[in-house]
Amino acid sequence: MTIKYKSIKEIKNMISNKEISNKEVIQEVFSLINEFQDLNAFITLNEENSIKKAEELDNNPSDLPLAGIPIAQKDLFCTKGLRTTCGSNILNNFIPPYSATVIENLENAGCISVGKTNMDEFAMGSSNETSFFGNVKNPWGKNLVPGGSSGGAASAVAAGLVPAATGTDTGGSIRQPASLCGITGIKPTYGRVSRWGMIAFASSLDQAGPMARTAEDCAFMLNEMCSHDEKDTTSLDNEIPDFQENLNSSLKGRKIGIVKDLDLSSLNDDVVEIYQNSLKEFESMGAELVDISLPHLSLSVPAYYVVAPAECSSNLSRFDGVKFGMRSEDAKDLEELYVKTRSEGFGDEVKRRILIGSYVLSAGYYDAYYKKAQQVRRLIKNDFENVFKNIDVIMTPTTRGPAFKIGSKGDDPIQMYLEDLFTISANLAGLPAMSLPNGNIENKPIGLQIIGNFLDENTILNFAHMFQNETNWHMYTPEGIIQ
Ligand code: GLN
Repeated sequence: MTIKYKSIKEIKNMISNKEISNKEVIQEVFSLINEFQDLNAFITLNEENSIKKAEELDNNPSDLPLAGIPIAQKDLFCTKGLRTTCGSNILNNFIPPYSATVIENLENAGCISVGKTNMDEFAMGSSNETSFFGNVKNPWGKNLVPGGSSGGAASAVAAGLVPAATGTDTGGSIRQPASLCGITGIKPTYGRVSRWGMIAFASSLDQAGPMARTAEDCAFMLNEMCSHDEKDTTSLDNEIPDFQENLNSSLKGRKIGIVKDLDLSSLNDDVVEIYQNSLKEFESMGAELVDISLPHLSLSVPAYYVVAPAECSSNLSRFDGVKFGMRSEDAKDLEELYVKTRSEGFGDEVKRRILIGSYVLSAGYYDAYYKKAQQVRRLIKNDFENVFKNIDVIMTPTTRGPAFKIGSKGDDPIQMYLEDLFTISANLAGLPAMSLPNGNIENKPIGLQIIGNFLDENTILNFAHMFQNETNWHMYTPEGIIQ
């Protein structure tokens, strides 16, 4: 009995049918992690505690929803007593005194946090190459990037080491790596999941969500991740539905918005064909395609690359060598302590973002850049509000192409920024969006993006689940299809 490539639901059944003990599940996870060490998917492992927790569950079986389920946690969530680096040298030795609300929620639901996954430094990147701890490899090809910033999470799930992982998404960091690694991931509505204890990148855009093999597992995880949290002032107080409640609702007569302003010409031809085949699949389930216009969509990448760096430059000012993490050894005074710690502690991409952010927020340029970008953001949000009056979801490809070679875009930040061409608008508008596998190009997976209306995760999960009932793209693994 192996747990490799198994879903949460399957592992849960195996445990409750006594086909496998909790301890055996966890032992297998660590032997798989060890076998696939070269993926570099993890920064820190939590082996001893995980085994202990599994033994406790074997002695005292629990009926908590995630009891004994191994979950990999992105190294951006603070975990009490367990090193949390955010992929950065500056937090190389940081051991948080508390856990993020998401971690607490998942652990209170019985999950076992087996380790912390590798990621782009401070979640800035789309290939996992900006991590201080080295790049992550894509299990579909060891010369390929897994996407980013939640690349370690995507790689670990795609390789079948764990059934699910947590990710975060500021401009696409759950959906783009999910697409490039052939798994399913959802970024909920902004404010659905507490940001407390998440190391901030761009606070008005950051949102945590689950990454797993299926939409059903994502719904299951989301049920446990969401909560209203007074410790996060942007946490929503709206009712939290059962995210599994209408996974199987019929799609007959439901409307899919197709963005006619989307420029598909810069896309890989196969991506377009696969996208169109998926739309046909939805039509055969009774859904209707409706042309929609999002006239300001093409401005989302430029607006994001003003707003996100602005917020990052302010958030990252807390890393000064005094309060958290590393401190430069040989500084002679306070000024030098700041300069040396930050020079040694931050990588190039993070420095680039801080510089852009400080520039656009500076007195002389604030109106020209930051204020303008916020105005554009509002226009993008209005566009979405208008179209959602008449449709249920919007569908686009998640990315412009499949996983690219490690090192191939490193010198060109703009090419890297365009990786999130289709995903960023959902963050700017605060809307829920997901990616699910919908095809392969030369044995490299790609994904379909489904964007939903505000607080309407259930509808996108419903569309995704129905697609996964009818197709088997989510069953493909780097070693072939699961039978
Ligand atoms: N790739 C985007 C960036 O580098 C988005 C990252 C993210 O969603 N955390 O900013």
